Amino acid sequence: MFNEYRKYITATDLQEFWYCPRFIYYMYVTKIRQYEEKRVKVQIGRDVHKAKALEKDYLRKSLGVVKQEKEMYLSDESLGICGIIDEILHLEDGSVTTLEYKFAENKYKFRTQFYQAVYYSLLIDSNYKTNMTSCYFVYTRTGSKLVKYDIKPKHKEYIIDCIKEFKKITHEGYYPKRTKYLRQCLDCTYNKICDKY
Ligand code: SF4
Repeated sequence: MFNEYRKYITATDLQEFWYCPRFIYYMYVTKIRQYEEKRVKVQIGRDVHKAKALEKDYLRKSLGVVKQEKEMYLSDESLGICGIIDEILHLEDGSVTTLEYKFAENKYKFRTQFYQAVYYSLLIDSNYKTNMTSCYFVYTRTGSKLVKYDIKPKHKEYIIDCIKEFKKITHEGYYPKRTKYLRQCLDCTYNKICDKY
């Protein structure tokens, strides 16, 4: 089972869960490991393209940043999650938020990028005893455009539900529904053994 060798769920685990919950079942319950090195290409991994143009002074001015923390590892024992957050920003008004750098503004990728930021907000809430209500993205391909998105309670509830379902699969062997998007099966390493129903 998942928790025999790894204590916490990561953002990457959830990205795979969003790709297809059943992928998680095959990976951690059936333990068909021979496919692991050809693991499905999750298209929404961390962007390596960092914005060089966005200087600290610009950030301070536009957002009222009083402190930045980079590449912060946080975990939450009660939820059983962890993650490394690109940048955590502490603002003048006492709020805490995140800043992620993305190479392209791509609507297909946006949902996953946003929900990853919501996932991080849960880590920030518990570690900083706060209530993170927004996140920022810098789209480096569009002139380092800075965009703010609101995080609402329903977004956090959705992530908590995903975490619960992920654990139900990995800890109880629950066989989940497949992805709604069958085109994802084309790239999936479990394509030949999955019944897809
Ligand atoms: S083949 Fe399709 S339904 Fe089955 S695990 Fe892969 S993506 Fe999911």
